[in-house]
Amino acid sequence: MSDFYVLILGSGAATPTFARNCSGQIVNIGSTKMLVDCGEATQNHLRRYHQKIQSIKYIFLSHLHGDHFFGLPGLISTMHLCGRKEPLTLFAPKGVKAALDLLFEVSGTHVDYPFEIVEMDHNAPRVILQTDKFHVTAFPLQHSMPTYGFIFRQEEPLLNLKPGVRDLYGLSNEWCMRVKRGDDLVLDSGVVVPNSELAQRLHSAHSYAYCCDTAYDESLVPTLRDVDLLCMESTFDNAFAAMAEQRQHCTAAQAATIASLAGVKRLLLTHFSARYKNLDPLLSEAQAVFPATECASDGHIYEID
Ligand SMILES: [Zn+2]
Ligand SMILES: [Zn+2]
Repeated sequence: MSDFYVLILGSGAATPTFARNCSGQIVNIGSTKMLVDCGEATQNHLRRYHQKIQSIKYIFLSHLHGDHFFGLPGLISTMHLCGRKEPLTLFAPKGVKAALDLLFEVSGTHVDYPFEIVEMDHNAPRVILQTDKFHVTAFPLQHSMPTYGFIFRQEEPLLNLKPGVRDLYGLSNEWCMRVKRGDDLVLDSGVVVPNSELAQRLHSAHSYAYCCDTAYDESLVPTLRDVDLLCMESTFDNAFAAMAEQRQHCTAAQAATIASLAGVKRLLLTHFSARYKNLDPLLSEAQAVFPATECASDGHIYEID
């Protein structure tokens, strides 16, 4: 299995149902586990789906509507009660710090581990986290309060040496690394061996975008261009298009239109209104526009490759 994947903890909008919890998902890249959105009962679902809560290193909140936020104070408190020592960083729209400070004060909640809050208040795409393996870009969405989408993009991995090359040219460790980074090899005789004869790309970098909640907005297309997996809200079907517009949400067909315009590889619909017991109408409306569409399902893992 790929080590870049998303586990859906909740795919429901607004109110939880038996079938779908409010928004939340684990995004895993290599050994880094991240939580994206944290609706009520997210910590229950982390346990249900066998996720160690102390292994979460970063939390990203799209916005402060309750169905994306109300699980956060409880989760932060549980981390403390379970003896967390490792640092935790939260990225969330401006206002989150005041909200948490007040809640923690009135409830007597302590947080003894290093807890950093990065408040977002920018109005163009911006890299908010850079590691040596990947970076995360937050970009504004159009919703009824300040809201951000996120793109998780792996850094391009090193090239792989072709079989036998190391011995053939007696490459030192330093030259191996240079060739893996794309350099041509210069022999002692001055002869240059082009990189393409020495190395090949066996793995390429992948990307995952999360857009939730948002009105239909074609200005997102350049930002989402060519991502491998786009997870996008589709709160309603076509019959509720007027309500979607009024509440600044998308229909399934609108999410599919964005996916198609942006040329993404696959689309994962999420944030379904509690009125839908059966998601087939949303799926078929979306697939009519963009065939490579699935509906997110709580507890399921979607690999990004
Ligand atoms: Zn929502
Ligand atoms: Zn919302």
